[in-house]
Amino acid sequence: MSENNLSIKIHRTIRRWNGSTLVWDIEAYRGTVEAIREEGRRLVTLTPDQIFGHAHRFREEIRSGVDPDTLLVPSFALVAEAVRRVLYIDPFDEQLVCGIVLHQGKLAEMQTGEGKTLAAVFPVFLNALCGRGVHVLTFNDYLARRDAEWMGPVYRLLGLTVGFVQEGMGITERQSAYRQDVTYLTAKEAGFDFLRDNCRYDTSHIVQRDFHYAIVDEADSLLIDEARIPMIIAGATDEPEEQLTPFAQLARAMQPERHFSFDAYGRKISLTEEGIDFVEQQLGCGDLFTSTGVASLSRLYHALHAQYLLHWNVDYLVSGNRIELIDELTGRIAENRRWPEGLHAAVEVKEGVPAQSRGAMRSSITIHHFIAQYPKVAAMTATAEQAEEEFHDWYGLDTVIIPSHRECLRNDFPDRVYRTRREKGHALIEEIATVHATGRPILVGTRTVRESRELADVLIARGIDCRVLNAKDNAYEASIVAEAGTAGAVTISTNMAGRGTDIRLGGSDGKDRERVASLGGLYVIGTNRFESRRIDDQLRGRSGRQGDPGLSRFFISLEDDLFVKYRINELIPKRYIVTSADGCIENAYVNNEINRLQRIIEGQNGDIKFTLGKYSVLIEQQRTIVASYRREVLATGKAFELLRVTARPVVDNILARLGGETTAAHCRTLLLRALDRSWSTYLADMADLRDGIHFRRFGRQDPLHIFNSLAIERFETMLQEARQAAAGELERLCVDGPRRDSPVIDERHNPSATWTYLVSDNPFEDNPDLQLSGNMGYSVFAGLLWPLTAMMLMMKRRGRKS
Ligand code: ADP
Ligand code: MG
Repeated sequence: MSENNLSIKIHRTIRRWNGSTLVWDIEAYRGTVEAIREEGRRLVTLTPDQIFGHAHRFREEIRSGVDPDTLLVPSFALVAEAVRRVLYIDPFDEQLVCGIVLHQGKLAEMQTGEGKTLAAVFPVFLNALCGRGVHVLTFNDYLARRDAEWMGPVYRLLGLTVGFVQEGMGITERQSAYRQDVTYLTAKEAGFDFLRDNCRYDTSHIVQRDFHYAIVDEADSLLIDEARIPMIIAGATDEPEEQLTPFAQLARAMQPERHFSFDAYGRKISLTEEGIDFVEQQLGCGDLFTSTGVASLSRLYHALHAQYLLHWNVDYLVSGNRIELIDELTGRIAENRRWPEGLHAAVEVKEGVPAQSRGAMRSSITIHHFIAQYPKVAAMTATAEQAEEEFHDWYGLDTVIIPSHRECLRNDFPDRVYRTRREKGHALIEEIATVHATGRPILVGTRTVRESRELADVLIARGIDCRVLNAKDNAYEASIVAEAGTAGAVTISTNMAGRGTDIRLGGSDGKDRERVASLGGLYVIGTNRFESRRIDDQLRGRSGRQGDPGLSRFFISLEDDLFVKYRINELIPKRYIVTSADGCIENAYVNNEINRLQRIIEGQNGDIKFTLGKYSVLIEQQRTIVASYRREVLATGKAFELLRVTARPVVDNILARLGGETTAAHCRTLLLRALDRSWSTYLADMADLRDGIHFRRFGRQDPLHIFNSLAIERFETMLQEARQAAAGELERLCVDGPRRDSPVIDERHNPSATWTYLVSDNPFEDNPDLQLSGNMGYSVFAGLLWPLTAMMLMMKRRGRKS
């Protein structure tokens, strides 16, 4: 533990030399906070009407061009007064600091339970005064509604309107929510609405206004963890089903190590020379590394990946007749999530389930590019520090660490490591039974929903009453988690369940607080380490809120899914695995090795995002071009002019018969439709190309370079093709005899489905820091080498930025 801390400290020191973006010292904010307090004292005697009047005056001033920064002190003071009146809470100084940080467009790290929801109201008010709409992006729908309703009275006293968006709302409800001064919603709803707005055929169906300012709550979850998962909207397709079975058979016939090899951590597959020959011979297709061979290669790659790297019950489940992905971070079924098209289809073939209607991708955007649509962004979370570089490099967010109002009294105990899952399970049950007998509340965080249920069954069989979160209904979960601090409670949930819900000692009413505090507070037990330390820390953070006592500890085994997946058994020499009678391995080396593996996994996930980022830059630029072109076509008479250039006789013919207005409407609809189709085909082609492109490495060409040059070439012809296609349709319309009503849009092609999509690409081979891994005795010097690795990482990052 201490060695680990030391290396983190050294790492931080190096970051600071290097111009770290992390701010620990909030002294600089002290003066402003004092000024807000001073100003606040003058407001205590105001009548509600006078408060409203002050807010109105600020609004007028901002509209007349006053810089919002100059109103920070009086507006924050006014919000504090409003909060005091309607919520009967006095905001802490730390919350004011958090508010200032958010107004500055930075990331505020503030511990769980410190009151971030309230802190956000200050900058939201100030930035909403200009009337351009502020979004607060919440972790889930339940929290969007809760926070809008909870903070609503404050905004209303100040003369602002508040709305929230929920899944399943229709166009009118959404339009109304987005018209409010403040809108609480998930990033998913915001992102999918953004994509859908760029596919409308009628301007009156557009739901969003131009973006202005967003505050992202639980920022690490959205901006870091979900960043691997682009948002996609799709419509029906007429494409015939593909024949994938031969590729699945071929994949099964191939032999690991002989025809293809895995990387050290079993995350990536490469064909061997013998494998290439074998495939070429089996497919009878000649040279695979030609532009025509790429399609087959991509199918084969998906089949191999599905066959050897994705595991039933770890990565996915088969439920009914469909494949459902398991979210590796939350352990829950991820609704509407897929792997990239080809891979998803390959898993369906592997499991012998019928292909889901896949639909043509209509548009897609990554979280990173979506967030960039907001001219000003701020964020808050309890665990930012370890991802500070990522926040800075990807989102331009500097992190400010805000101390907790009262000192955190939680004890984080070192992990208990067991050799086998069975031994771990046994120790876990004993621990829960012993602690439960004292009446101390326990919150157990598991990896999957199934694990939660199994654990609960065992506990109940032992006569221990416990509550399991159902992983379905966020509101229901919140109500259970809120009671997790009650004396004698045992609550079992997957990680992140009930995130955002406050856990008070002695129950949600705090009735029994003293008794529970004297027992040591909430005991948090993790039954697995997660993909990143940040997520482990999220779980620990459920205990010890606002100066409460508490304790956290992880029980893990070398047979845990995470370690099996990354082959930790092969990384730890057998001689270190010495256990006590109950199977517990008490060896600091093993604990360190586990920490190191976790850092490697974090690095890998970072690299996956980096690849996604590299491949998405150009496509995103093109999406922007198409979107603004499309908006112009939708809102103006541009289509008519364009088609008149392309197909003058046809357009003139229709014009003579139907008149200007109808002809313009026909042109607009047909061009939009053609544009959407071309863009959709283009995206599918590019996805295919991207998935198959690894194999180009054998041709010694840089895959990104190939991808980008092909993309530019294809994109140029695409816009032209769209115009040609629209002209062709117009001609057909002319021959069929044009009618007065505009051509029917086949509604099936409108975006009807939304899904998110897990990118599994991994640029492992170009990763210099991973060459340090393996059994090279490196870990013996881990304490020394880690700063070195950190330095290499930094150099690499800098290289990337330039
Ligand atoms: P976070 O999002 O930081 O985890 P929440 O916004 O959910 O925290 O708030 C946690 C709890 O703290 C809530 O019950 C809230 O009412 C309470 N709270 C917030 N600010 C204050 C304050 N200034 N004084 C007392 N209680 C507060
Ligand atoms: Mg919160």
